[in-house]
Amino acid sequence: MLKCEVCGKPADKHHIVYKSQGGIEFQLNFRYLCSCHHRGDTGPHKNRKLDLEYKLNMQSQLEKILIKEFYLIEELEALLNINKGVIKRILKKYKLYDNGYKKSDIIFRLMGLKKYDEQSFLGNEDLKEKSNTFDSNIKSKKL
Ligand SMILES: [Zn+2]
Ligand SMILES: [Zn+2]
Repeated sequence: MLKCEVCGKPADKHHIVYKSQGGIEFQLNFRYLCSCHHRGDTGPHKNRKLDLEYKLNMQSQLEKILIKEFYLIEELEALLNINKGVIKRILKKYKLYDNGYKKSDIIFRLMGLKKYDEQSFLGNEDLKEKSNTFDSNIKSKKL
């Protein structure tokens, strides 16, 4: 029986990157949580901060495990314990270089087509706005 990693009660499997976000079945994407710590107010489905914390944590684990720039399907299968057919399918649309798939593409895909950083953790999302202003400044100078 699976046990909640917070309190030890019987647990469900939580997908850190939700299946609806493109998350797939492999150990690094799982957390084991009881119904209260899973769907309750303090769980990742209700508490956005915790949700992001889990995601940032998973992403940095992936960065630590994947130390090379490129990986072959077989290497990913062994390192991350992902079903070969699944990893093949999700990476199909990414460029396959001589040495394999690019680490950044792999992590981006496993994180559900997102790159998480401390900025998203703080909810600071006006960076795009700033760069637009910067562009229009350049244009107005009529170089
Ligand atoms: Zn619990
Ligand atoms: Zn869940």
